[in-house]
Amino acid sequence: MNDINESWGWVVSQVLNSLGVFETNPGGFSGEWAGSGKAQRVVSPIHGEVLATVVNVTPQEFDGILVKCHQAFASWKLVPAPKRGEVVKEIGDALRRNKAALAELITLEMGKTLREGLGEVQEMIDICDLAVGLSRQLYGLTMPSERRMHRLQEQWHPLGVVGVITAFNFPVAVWSWNTALALVCGDTVLWKPSSRTPLTAIACTKIAEKVLLEFGFDPAICSLAIGKGSDIGDLINTDPRVALVSYTGSVPGGRHVGKLVQERFGRHILELGGNGAVIVSDKADLDIAVPSIYFGAIGTSGQRCTTTRRIIVHESIAEAFKTRLLELYSRTAIGDPRDGKNLMGPLVDAVAVNTMLDAIETVKAQGGKILCGGEKLPAAGACYVTPCIAEVIGNLPIVKEETFAPLLYFMTYKTIEEAIALQNGVPQGLSSAIITNDQRESELFLSAAGSDCGIANVNTGTSGAEIGGAFGGEKETGGGRESGSDAWKAYMRRQTSVINFSGQVELAQGIILEL
Ligand code: NAD
Repeated sequence: MNDINESWGWVVSQVLNSLGVFETNPGGFSGEWAGSGKAQRVVSPIHGEVLATVVNVTPQEFDGILVKCHQAFASWKLVPAPKRGEVVKEIGDALRRNKAALAELITLEMGKTLREGLGEVQEMIDICDLAVGLSRQLYGLTMPSERRMHRLQEQWHPLGVVGVITAFNFPVAVWSWNTALALVCGDTVLWKPSSRTPLTAIACTKIAEKVLLEFGFDPAICSLAIGKGSDIGDLINTDPRVALVSYTGSVPGGRHVGKLVQERFGRHILELGGNGAVIVSDKADLDIAVPSIYFGAIGTSGQRCTTTRRIIVHESIAEAFKTRLLELYSRTAIGDPRDGKNLMGPLVDAVAVNTMLDAIETVKAQGGKILCGGEKLPAAGACYVTPCIAEVIGNLPIVKEETFAPLLYFMTYKTIEEAIALQNGVPQGLSSAIITNDQRESELFLSAAGSDCGIANVNTGTSGAEIGGAFGGEKETGGGRESGSDAWKAYMRRQTSVINFSGQVELAQGIILEL
């Protein structure tokens, strides 16, 4: 395990200062910064050292924040969409300027490697670019009316306050996927980040605040409320002033949020857990399969919703494939994620480490065999593990659960139909892939008889979605879609209109009105 410890305190303060984050920070924003609730110390998983303190908002402060965010909607929705796009363009440019510092803060706060931190900020910049273009394309349709001299049309209007609740593993990208679209759609945003990653949330909110002020808009358009999910989160779930709740997190959390939001007939986008699988065919190019699966399984230390958690390998190539993958695993550089040599940083906290170790014991108890890894590394105050591969026969009960850690299940198949059934045989439905040079196999995989996931890739792995496509998954993944394609429609309300320019009354469905 590599370690670079030098000048830790100095580096941390440089990064925090450059992003306007202080030793102690109020956790609420809606034009002014506030927070007088419980103070929480934010600990880096790299060394277990305190980075800064955040003071949570109280329920009363939350209400004040929501009032202002809701008021800001009244004027923001009237700003022409292309003008709103100009604001998002400037937010994107500010992110470009702050890319290095923000990436470092992501790495310090949640432990992903710096190269992945940079990738996350790039994703934010990309979604801003997409949203800017979109701000001139929020199009409705016109349909032929069944009545003479009538026009039938639909148009899209701003929706209201979007409550964005985010997970720790993409602490800022998920906010940006939602916020860039919400802003051009004319909505305002109230963000509740993970309590494990509040500093990156403060940094991003400050970036948006500055831009909104420069343009002369109400900065409450991008509001923030840091606090526990069970109090601040539930206030968002239950308040009818929040028109849309976009929730990213675990399946149990999403089940809870979905029920509460549905209860009040609010809208929700649920982006929940995954259980990504890659089918490796006997016609696969192993030079593609091995690195794609390796990155998919160990990237972000196995803490992506799209992480490759299962590989389903044709029995005829299983041994050759296993040998190559194990060789790569054996030389995984693990350590300080700021060091470019390391491919894997720590897990987010000690709970995550214990969850992984417990899952490994369960795998063994259910008949699985550990092929490599799965040990906690001795590093004081930190949460480093070796990535694990477990050989299993089919989807054991533990395999059907999402263990949010670098734990990869290896299984074999005989026929492509059997492989697809294994791929689909879990409750989650987010990301899937097949590695094959056989077109019939890949087309089958992409057909209605194939993968049941929201994402189905060919000859590339399960993780690393591009923002241009709609992102989300089926079954217990929650069914939501964010990011590209027409995902913007979830952030707007559709209005259908009939316009009569005939000068006469003509009823639909040919009904005659005799007066
Ligand atoms: P988590 O469920 O512990 O927390 C997610 C968020 O929910 C946090 O902000 C938390 O404070 C909040 N929360 C907790 N209780 C709440 C409540 N009652 N009401 C409202 N919000 C509440 O998840 P996590 O550990 O931060 O993240 C990992 C999980 O997120 C994994 O399951 C992963 O697959 C999933 N995830 C999914 C996607 C996706 O796009 N599908 C993306 C990233 C992460």
